[in-house]
Amino acid sequence: MFAQKKTSSDIQYLDVLVPRSLITSGRDLLNLPVSSEGLCSLRISLGEGSISNFQKISYSSEQCLGLLLPRLVEPHAHLDKAFTWKDFPNLSGTYEGAMKANLEEHENRDKSKVRFRAEKALKLGLSNGLRAIRSHVDSFGFIGDQTWDVLLEIKSEWETKIEVQLVAMVPLDYWSREKGVTLAKRVSREGGLLGGVIGPPYKKKQLRECLFNFFCLANTLGCGIDLHIDESNLEPGEGLRELFYVLDRIRIDVPITCSHLSSMSLLPQKKLSFFAEKLAHYRINVIALPLTNLWLLSRAYMKTPVKRPLAPIQQLQKAGVTVAIGGDNVQDPWNPIGNFDPISLISAAIPMAQVAPWQRGGLATFTTGAARIMDLEWDGSFDVGSPADFILLDADSWTSALSFPQDRKVMINGTWIE
Ligand SMILES: [Zn+2]
Repeated sequence: MFAQKKTSSDIQYLDVLVPRSLITSGRDLLNLPVSSEGLCSLRISLGEGSISNFQKISYSSEQCLGLLLPRLVEPHAHLDKAFTWKDFPNLSGTYEGAMKANLEEHENRDKSKVRFRAEKALKLGLSNGLRAIRSHVDSFGFIGDQTWDVLLEIKSEWETKIEVQLVAMVPLDYWSREKGVTLAKRVSREGGLLGGVIGPPYKKKQLRECLFNFFCLANTLGCGIDLHIDESNLEPGEGLRELFYVLDRIRIDVPITCSHLSSMSLLPQKKLSFFAEKLAHYRINVIALPLTNLWLLSRAYMKTPVKRPLAPIQQLQKAGVTVAIGGDNVQDPWNPIGNFDPISLISAAIPMAQVAPWQRGGLATFTTGAARIMDLEWDGSFDVGSPADFILLDADSWTSALSFPQDRKVMINGTWIE
């Protein structure tokens, strides 16, 4: 088990392995010995709920230091429909099947069901080491309003444990209607974001008009934007092209996030680079969602897909775009698996996206990049004064941490949680 630490609320230090790329403190830590997986052994002193000092320690193979990570974030979830697969399965695994089952479930949705799902998700997320969750919310009509009532209550009940951010998701043209404007004002008052879905088939004229109204509304209200866009293997990058068409013609000052961008990876290299540079130019963030993309997209009857649409994470990072990886749907018609576990997600991203946590850019998609996209106060890096908010894994390497479920402990403000 874990070495050398006190397990009460008066913990003074932790002797642990830490990813070097997360340490931003320069104090005496230059030339730290680093393992082949980028881990270094450190004594981290704690005081008043934050890191008070770092000290190099020597590490022998007989010692078992745990692997210490910051509490992590889930930048893209759907709390309102989580765990609905059992009653509304989508056994065909198609996008259309998911939409159909989702609509059936939506007709049966009520406040108590939403509360049950969200609380279950947050309890799981807390014990798995999440400190923040951004959830998209089906916000259309009466049940949409009721869902916001419940999730806002839950957001406030959980604020000391998990920061919840809510994104109102409605058909894009809804934002041009009176009801949409009323919803947007409420979302803005509550510190939420505005969202929607842009996917094929693209009706360009209509889409441009909707996007123009949508951006103006978000801009007027000072509301951030997070869109589901190009979640498809068809008409690669067409949604993004329309987004740029509008952005080239207006000025917008609110942060924009594009979730999915799956079909972008199917573009020819030159066009892909051009789009990546435009995303960087407009400071648009990207959230890649490998689990749902690889499960739902490029389906053909009795065929295993060979083209795997997924946001081109490394090309985007190379162009200067901040990228995060999210878990998206959990046990609902869009994805039969998942459990709000950021460690499982890091593990899945290794084969799915060729993203490795021992690479700086790879780890950033789960830590600093994700925190920046969510505009969190702490970006998840370790410095003197950083919060003592940790996940401690009973593992002495990334491979052992990610190969099978690990014992883990979660610390909030210097105290291990039960
Ligand atoms: Zn989503």
